[in-house]
Amino acid sequence: MEESRPREALMRMLEGMEGKGYGAYKAIQGPWSFPSFGLQVDHVQGDPFAAPSRLRVFLPPEVAGLPGDLLLSPSRRVGTACFLARRFRSVARDLGGSDGSGRSGEIRMEAPGQEVLPISALRVDPDGAVEARFTVGLPARGRRVLGKTAARLLGDVLPQVVAQSLVSQALDLGALRLHAESNEDADALRDQLRDRGLLAFVSDGASLPRQSGVDEAPMLGDQVVPFQSPPSLRVTLEAPNAGAISGMGLPRGVILVVGGGYHGKSTLLRALERGVYNHRPGDGRERVVTDPAAVKVRAEDGRSVVGVDISPFIGNLPGGEDTRAFSTPFASGSTSQAAAIMEALEAGATTLLVDEDTAATNFMIRDRRMQALVPREEEPIIPFIDRVRELHEEHDVSSVLVLGGSGDYLDVADTVVAMVGYRPVDVTPRAREVAAAHPTGRIPESPGPMAPAPRRFPRRESLDPSRGRRATRVRVRDAQGIQFGEEEIDLSAVDQVLSRAQLRALSEGLILMRRHFLDRRGRLDVTELLDGVMELMETEGLDALGRGDEGDLAAFRRLELAAALNRLRSLEMDGTEAH
Ligand code: ADP
Ligand code: MG
Repeated sequence: MEESRPREALMRMLEGMEGKGYGAYKAIQGPWSFPSFGLQVDHVQGDPFAAPSRLRVFLPPEVAGLPGDLLLSPSRRVGTACFLARRFRSVARDLGGSDGSGRSGEIRMEAPGQEVLPISALRVDPDGAVEARFTVGLPARGRRVLGKTAARLLGDVLPQVVAQSLVSQALDLGALRLHAESNEDADALRDQLRDRGLLAFVSDGASLPRQSGVDEAPMLGDQVVPFQSPPSLRVTLEAPNAGAISGMGLPRGVILVVGGGYHGKSTLLRALERGVYNHRPGDGRERVVTDPAAVKVRAEDGRSVVGVDISPFIGNLPGGEDTRAFSTPFASGSTSQAAAIMEALEAGATTLLVDEDTAATNFMIRDRRMQALVPREEEPIIPFIDRVRELHEEHDVSSVLVLGGSGDYLDVADTVVAMVGYRPVDVTPRAREVAAAHPTGRIPESPGPMAPAPRRFPRRESLDPSRGRRATRVRVRDAQGIQFGEEEIDLSAVDQVLSRAQLRALSEGLILMRRHFLDRRGRLDVTELLDGVMELMETEGLDALGRGDEGDLAAFRRLELAAALNRLRSLEMDGTEAH
């Protein structure tokens, strides 16, 4: 460990480099001790227009002064950390900034949006110590150091940001406590789902609609219809802080969501998709929780698929391709949806979420008339309707299907919820009557039970983060994709990926997978690789990723890690093997 130097030494050093070339800033790298916290300069940017410099501050428990009850459980600490991170971001935005070149003076933290989950930008330890990671644009005029401005920024502005966002005296403790407790409640609600035989819970009074398709903030105003459970589906769960909470419990099995267009079906499904994550108080979905292994599956034509057994859904293709180890650089709507389901099952999914808006129709249904017109032998697809009960009964995989356009599913649904003017109605008994009064005449088309999918063994060389002379060149391209070495991984159709921070973490997760598990231990299959990475994250947290000091990472599930791996176009399998 380097000896840490006092704040005054940093001030003198910065003032002394006024007007020098930008490279002079390199000298401030390392640890510094300020009167009430430690500062670590991890990386100094090469020039004013490059990615900003990376810094950390460390507050001992007695300085942060967090009340003990906020530290009692991991859930509470995560809720507390997300609150502090949002606060730091907004205070820094207000106080930072100067009129030098590039990003001069900008203090930025990668804080979460509506969701509450472990992030590397802010950590609250069980003893109440706080570590914050952020970036600073070191001030410049042209390419010259603005040393006095930098001294003010790091010597005065930064301590103010810290004092106003990370020290409990300056915080709204009521709001902070609500964050911590509400996060703990959400975890507790989700933990009860299994025992209660539920796949999701949506509390009475929840507010599901969002501002817009690109803004996850809640819709506000009189037009919002608060969620009310149908009486027949109402359950009461116990939250450790809020007490008894009533709402709609969706039982495991096959759930059909029907109703007219624009009546709120997709909005409900979207809330269930996001219910694998917790949300901040005031979001409207803070008491909407879903099976933690629920996966949204959809059609994604054009994606690549590598060695996936899609034979439960797709049989004799016209080109004669083997659908037990199906590969294509350009999947169709139906083959992509089949692959998404099989990949999700491989990664451990226990609930599938499907919306008609993003599903391939020919994958979902094949009705009596089409069966009469196109003979079985000429149709490669075994539609989902012929597997959905088997998935539930034989494999304990539930489904929630938004389908306003086909009544065929009434025959296979356990529960049918109709959305009527944004209000859910339990129409299960009525759906049974309709199904009995109007038989579809459909002939089931499953040729036999689903066979266990063969194991897939990724080939080490095919997971290659290098580019040109660089051993590792990985970055987040935009809100939707990762540049991984020479390849781009498009995750725009993976609806449960939240943020840039999560994409960053996923890209590091893939590197970790290669480094620790593909390089050293011989042949491992996809499941073992996912296990390896997730176990390491379990023990070491987000610092298992990257250099271990990154401030722009957010936790992910093994299901999204699998989604990223499966969309890597260079991926190859070292053969497959029957179980
Ligand atoms: P569907 O899938 O049934 O066609 P959507 O879920 O897409 O309908 O919802 C249609 C519109 O209604 C969206 O703009 C959505 O924001 C809005 N909406 C959904 N639920 C509510 C609600 N509870 N209160 C007010 N508006 C809502
Ligand atoms: Mg819809």
